[in-house]
Amino acid sequence: MRFARINNKLIEAEHGLKGLCPGCSQPVFAKCGEQRIWHWAHRNNRICDNWWEPETEWHRSWKNNYPADWQEVFLPDEQTGEKHIADIRTPHNLVIEFQHSHINPIERTIREKFYQNIVWVVDGSRLKRDYPRFRKGILKSKRTKKQGFYFVDFPDEVFPTNWLNSSMPVIFDFRGISATEQDDIIRNTLWCLLPQRVENLTVVVGIGRESFIEITHNKAQLFQEKEQEKPQRKQPPTMNIMRREPQYIYEHGRWKRRQRF
Ligand SMILES: [Zn+2]
Repeated sequence: MRFARINNKLIEAEHGLKGLCPGCSQPVFAKCGEQRIWHWAHRNNRICDNWWEPETEWHRSWKNNYPADWQEVFLPDEQTGEKHIADIRTPHNLVIEFQHSHINPIERTIREKFYQNIVWVVDGSRLKRDYPRFRKGILKSKRTKKQGFYFVDFPDEVFPTNWLNSSMPVIFDFRGISATEQDDIIRNTLWCLLPQRVENLTVVVGIGRESFIEITHNKAQLFQEKEQEKPQRKQPPTMNIMRREPQYIYEHGRWKRRQRF
């Protein structure tokens, strides 16, 4: 955990500090080593949320985009009596979970049911093979009438299969925390796999990082229902459109034209 309570304030881990877990009120100890990011831990490596995964720099850099009191929100599970820690929960009751390690579809579904309104942000830089597959797939995708929205025919060739049937939007962050490659707009863009299918086609949306942060600060949902797109029936979709035509990215509440791809 990033925060513990000391004198009823949420404090980050520092050498020698002891505090109380904001979830279970048991003592927690600051772990400030060189291997893992500084964090708080319960005695004997006990964890009070069995869904918790060790945090990375990537988790922390994402969390830093949101106020501290939106981070690590403990939510009671009335079925099991357990508590689970939402990475971010906004005042609009949107939960954002930053997922670095693998999660199987059964576990993923349980968490989606628990949080109800959640956006996953997946560390797409963890496995080296994921980005080249995605890039190849999105360059072959079909354009929709709505700029930035694409149809993908064979999503299992584009995305890690454990995310394909998610009932919530899944954002892939292929950049991770590595230095940005200025020319690779595809890697720098966040790519959202939408839960809805349109006539069996998978819908993928490119979204700028700042836009994502802005929308999640201000809205309960990433996309409104009316933004769903229908396939173009009269004009067959064009292949490889991203090579031939400018790309549009949603930034600061409007669509911006990108010159390079
Ligand atoms: Zn605890």
